[in-house]
Amino acid sequence: MYPPTQLSKCDNCVSLRPQKRPVIAKKDLIINGKAIAPNTNVRVKANIARLASGTIIDLPVYVSRSNKPGPVILLSGGLHGDEVNGIEIVRRMLEASLFDNLERGTVVAIPVMNIYGFLNFSREVADGKDINRSFPGNSTGSLAARVAHFLSKQVLPAIDFGVDFHTGGASRFNFPQIRYAASDSAAEAPAKAFGAPLILESPFIEKSLRKQAFKGGASILVYEGGESLRLDEEVIKEGINGAKRLLHHFEMLQEAPPPPPATIVCSSSTWLRAKRSGIYKGLIKSGMHINKGDLLGYITDPFGEFSVKIKAHTSGFVLGHNNMPIVNQGDALLHIGTPV
Ligand SMILES: [Zn+2]
Repeated sequence: MYPPTQLSKCDNCVSLRPQKRPVIAKKDLIINGKAIAPNTNVRVKANIARLASGTIIDLPVYVSRSNKPGPVILLSGGLHGDEVNGIEIVRRMLEASLFDNLERGTVVAIPVMNIYGFLNFSREVADGKDINRSFPGNSTGSLAARVAHFLSKQVLPAIDFGVDFHTGGASRFNFPQIRYAASDSAAEAPAKAFGAPLILESPFIEKSLRKQAFKGGASILVYEGGESLRLDEEVIKEGINGAKRLLHHFEMLQEAPPPPPATIVCSSSTWLRAKRSGIYKGLIKSGMHINKGDLLGYITDPFGEFSVKIKAHTSGFVLGHNNMPIVNQGDALLHIGTPV
């Protein structure tokens, strides 16, 4: 176990929490059965499964270790295979060799956890299952269960903390944000240190990576930004800057970008949904404040026979917005957070 230390490098830094349980002895970190010595940078290829074509699915895991003991931090993307901003954030940090000379500790970087979804432009795996609803998984189940099982058994036990980088849904844009469960007190200070423009307190989801990590004594933040299958430079930049601040917070990087002037914190959120089916024309984008009763957009039919106004049912901060112009009754139009 690495020793808790008082940090004093920046205002966001606070003392590291004591571990809830002992983690793997850090002299020889073990990922996928492979012992990884200090002062090494290695790629571990984990064999997850085989496609119908016979092609083996390998999951590349990049492990960078300092010669000084310290926390083990997971930085992962692509748990949903079409969420390209998360993948690109981790890829760019690897490309920049950001973890090659850590001050202490270890970074475990996995750019694409759902290889099948990545190949098929899909959130899920081959059978339509969501890995992030399949934890802890099992070694003989469906592909989603096998990937979840690998992560549960071979990666999560080795980490102390992590950030799982996601992207919004299809045609649904997420304002760059960090999510953590308010019930996980150990996650609060690192969530603030990340310095995203927005923090959303978001309860654990059953069978998710985040919940599974928490059960084992580690905390994982979820970063969300942009929309699936669309790279967004601002979202990518915020994700990389946040990861640097987090590693600085844990005394693993000497330098980090300055924190943003202000972070909005929302304790809960609600969805504004379409009351009519039709063509949606939104007037509001993510990052805007709205007041109850504000005009947010219109839904029309394609024939010019009706046009209905959409008004805000609540006040708040817009965390995400829909970019799909054709909507059905009940479709999500805006995700609205309640600032604390
Ligand atoms: Zn996702």
